[in-house]
Amino acid sequence: MGKLIEKIVAFFTKETEFKNDLSRTIVAYRIILSLMLPYCIMQIVCFVPSGEKGFLTFFIASLGVYIAAFALTYKRSALEVIILSNVWWLVWIPVSIYSMGWKINAQLFIVVLLILAFFSAYKKYIIKLCYAVLLLIYGMCMTFALNGSVGIIETSTAADAVISILGYIITFSSITIISILFSNSSVEAEGRLVEYNIQLENEANTDALTGLYNRRKGRDHLSAVCRPDYGRRVVVAMLDIDFFKKVNDSYGHDVGDEVLKKIATTMRETFNKDASMVRWGGEEFLIIMEDCNGDEACAQLMVLANKIRNLVFKIGDRSFSVTVTIGVEEYDYSSDVDTLVKRADEKLYQGKNSGRDRVVF
Ligand code: GH3
Ligand code: MG
Ligand code: MG
Repeated sequence: MGKLIEKIVAFFTKETEFKNDLSRTIVAYRIILSLMLPYCIMQIVCFVPSGEKGFLTFFIASLGVYIAAFALTYKRSALEVIILSNVWWLVWIPVSIYSMGWKINAQLFIVVLLILAFFSAYKKYIIKLCYAVLLLIYGMCMTFALNGSVGIIETSTAADAVISILGYIITFSSITIISILFSNSSVEAEGRLVEYNIQLENEANTDALTGLYNRRKGRDHLSAVCRPDYGRRVVVAMLDIDFFKKVNDSYGHDVGDEVLKKIATTMRETFNKDASMVRWGGEEFLIIMEDCNGDEACAQLMVLANKIRNLVFKIGDRSFSVTVTIGVEEYDYSSDVDTLVKRADEKLYQGKNSGRDRVVF
């Protein structure tokens, strides 16, 4: 049973020979065209005993056109299938009502045509709107000309019931299928777009090597928190690796990169969510701490400096460690961001000049 369902699904969803064709539109057309078949067969069954050869031929031809349109969905472009089926439907609806009466519900198919037009991605909106207006006029004219029509043949009450119920079933299922096919896809697409936007935003804000904020995001964040009306104490610290050039020169750039990554990880482990960490430049990091004063920040920064000093990098049978120098500045509720960073930088260089491996406040 599961295999049969899989085969049916594969049959309806098989790709067309046209690359980039509208797969969902094609699937919708395949299902609706196949739903038309029992309706057409009922029309033929009703007309066989009547001797009305003209109408009988028309309904046999309709069956042929719907089957042909179905087959074309595998071979031709979606547009050709859409035009062929829509033109035939527009002829078939009034002929069906005229010959079998208003009671067979063929007029309901106008709604299916309207919905199909709106969900087909080929045409521009203005064309869709024009088509909708034309369908409205077409429906009004048909109601004016054929409303109350009883048809030209006598059909049994049972046959009338079957065909009118089929009309309801086909239109309702068509609308349901179109809605499922297209609402799912638009919700999925919207979801994917939101995820993609989040990913893009993250990438735009993140330093690729360390995963910390990049300088642009760091500066934005600093501007957001260094405002007199922010109402929280802010401390900024500029951290620079001591003699990092030597690491690169002795062990290579890749090892240097590993050191940068490990220091970033150590920073994250030390501050968790209590500070925002930014890769400010090549081997310079800015740490933005909130709700603490300079002394409290220095205590935490010394913990960090100590952890970094204790990291051991092993390269073959050689190993090395690095130290950092940190300049610390408290936000004074009046300076701008550039001044604040400049002051932290000045303290960092005081630290460098007085022997490195220290925290200067
Ligand atoms: P100081 O103690 O005075 O800071 O000495 P230093 O050698 O760390 O300072 P300097 O500014 O002279 O050198 C910094 C080095 O950092 C130079 C550059 O090659 C290296 N660097 C910058 N960005 C990266 C990076 O992304 N990866 C690696 N591996 N090295 C980098
Ligand atoms: Mg430097
Ligand atoms: Mg350095």
